[in-house]
Amino acid sequence: MEHQARTNPEILGEAVARLKSGRLVAFPTETVYGLGADALSDEAVGRVFAAKGRPAGNPLIVHVSSAAMAQEMVVSQWPGEAEHLARAFWPGPLSLVLPKHHRVPKRVTGGGPSVAVRCPDHPLALALIEAFASPIVGPSANLSGSLSPTRADDVREVWSQDEVYVIDGGPCRGGIESTVLSLVEGRVRILRPGFIGSEAIEAVLGRPVESDGARTPADGEPAPAPGILGRHYAPNARALLMDEFAVPTGVDPAGVVLVTHRPPTPEGDVRVVRMPSRAEEYAARLYAALREADAMHPTLIVVERPPRYGSDSAGTAIWRAIHERLERATGEQGGTAASHDT
Ligand code: AMP
Ligand code: MG
Repeated sequence: MEHQARTNPEILGEAVARLKSGRLVAFPTETVYGLGADALSDEAVGRVFAAKGRPAGNPLIVHVSSAAMAQEMVVSQWPGEAEHLARAFWPGPLSLVLPKHHRVPKRVTGGGPSVAVRCPDHPLALALIEAFASPIVGPSANLSGSLSPTRADDVREVWSQDEVYVIDGGPCRGGIESTVLSLVEGRVRILRPGFIGSEAIEAVLGRPVESDGARTPADGEPAPAPGILGRHYAPNARALLMDEFAVPTGVDPAGVVLVTHRPPTPEGDVRVVRMPSRAEEYAARLYAALREADAMHPTLIVVERPPRYGSDSAGTAIWRAIHERLERATGEQGGTAASHDT
């Protein structure tokens, strides 16, 4: 990577100085760009919610540079299962939800009793946390309800460098947000699917993982609200998921942008954004592709539904996570498509 900061101590120094004064710093991770602030400062965390327009009830993930730092965020005891998972998957795209220590401000956890911790697998994120020597919150660096940023410019489009200091690490290689796994009350539950799937977690824990129960709210959602999950991770234009593309009746093909992993057979003037057919590559490209589609100012974005299964369980886990994001982006969760965007 020819990007900043690893070789530029000035940038890291400036970022740390900003964090110390309670200000915001966007940083690259292996998933998406995070909006960083001092996780132990109630005021700094308040600025994150304000900047994103995030509902106060939707908690933030605390980013750490080691399992030892994570343990300090967790009350009394770091469970053996957390230790096993951290050893297997950290640094990496797995957030663990555990009962919180009182040193974590309530605001971080949306007022709730548990905290999500994760150690990101990115040299710049780790260097930042290590230089700050304390955990930082890192929600995706986008306005609530909109697409997560996978490039520094996505963040710069929203805030000035004065409001949010951006550490540019180039495009994120993962492209979708971490798996969120709850370990509270003796249960193991996936609250948000990601690159690390239930099979991989089960292989480490040796017990079944619940996947379908509670769903963690996306950016714009105040709290889990079954049946009325709205559009999130969403482009500005109306978006539809279709098994096989066809211009909907009454829609002008010239206003349609098709996002597809298939060789396109476009109808009329339909514009096309091509997607890779492998799960990892599809995920890495997803948000940038939706942004590209949006930038064409279509009246409708149609995403052709990608495969549900990969060649192995790891690939299938990634497709599952991609489907969840696509369903959110198009408002198709089986419930109503009411928007909770803020
Ligand atoms: P983002 O900050 O955009 O990556 O989103 C973080 C996700 O993690 C959201 O869906 C949150 O609801 C979820 N999350 C963060 N902390 C907790 C927690 N303590 N309990 C349950 N879910 C959490
Ligand atoms: Mg987010």
